[in-house]
Amino acid sequence: MSVLKVTDLHASIGDVEILRGVDLEVSSGEVHALMGPNGSGKSTLSHVLMGRDDYTVTSGSVTIDGEELLGLPTWKRARKGLFLTHQYPVEIVGVRVVDLVTAATDGEADAGGRIATEASRLAVRDEFLTRGVNVEFSGGEQKRAETLQLAVLEPRFAVLDEIDSGLDVDALRDVSRRIEAMTEETGLGVLAITHYARLLTELRPDRVHVFMGGRVVTSGGPELADELEAGGYDGLAARLGIEVPSPVAAAEKPLDPFATPGF
Ligand code: ADP
Ligand code: MG
Repeated sequence: MSVLKVTDLHASIGDVEILRGVDLEVSSGEVHALMGPNGSGKSTLSHVLMGRDDYTVTSGSVTIDGEELLGLPTWKRARKGLFLTHQYPVEIVGVRVVDLVTAATDGEADAGGRIATEASRLAVRDEFLTRGVNVEFSGGEQKRAETLQLAVLEPRFAVLDEIDSGLDVDALRDVSRRIEAMTEETGLGVLAITHYARLLTELRPDRVHVFMGGRVVTSGGPELADELEAGGYDGLAARLGIEVPSPVAAAEKPLDPFATPGF
């Protein structure tokens, strides 16, 4: 049994604080849903957990079984068992899916066999395994391919950033069923960031957290997702007696490394 624990996490981009005290705790085998309006900082949380270096963590901690992840490079966080599926997967021209996944298994003897098994469970055709990663993949194909990596690598915890966006119903069902099965087969712990209760009919959450203004404002059981579906964030905020914060202001200037060329 493992525990992913996020404690009072604050993070900024430039001078703008986006994460404002996030607390979360996910144990092996559990599915936690994180739902919140656009711009509330959900993707920022996923990036900060994984160690993307354009965010500054100003306080807090992120641990797996008590071991601090903050300060470690992304690959070491992955080695400790953390995995992220991206809201916007990037294209990697010239790197085939099969080579990426094989390399990530770090010399596992039967990597090829496992990739083939997972590809068939996820209805990923051979043709996609030998294409460049995400190159000209549809939304559904991208998310099937990300889930294939997840299934072969068997991390302890997976953060899914809107794995349901851009998916048709068949892909949504295949992907969420496979992930739900992993929670039982390998005890995968899941933090599923989503807008829609739809995902949660297959990937059944143990806990639902509502994220607004860079922090979790309330948590509950699956009925909280139904409440959101029925009454929206405004309805929930009214019940809680809080205001829906306006989206965290974006950093005013784009963080363009070439903006000041220095000559
Ligand atoms: P969500 O995923 O909940 O829609 P995000 O985490 O993507 O929200 O964004 C939260 C806020 O942080 C937004 O106002 C967004 O514009 C800002 N933000 C996120 N990443 C960056 C970045 N790299 N540069 C500037 N602003 C950013
Ligand atoms: Mg997002």
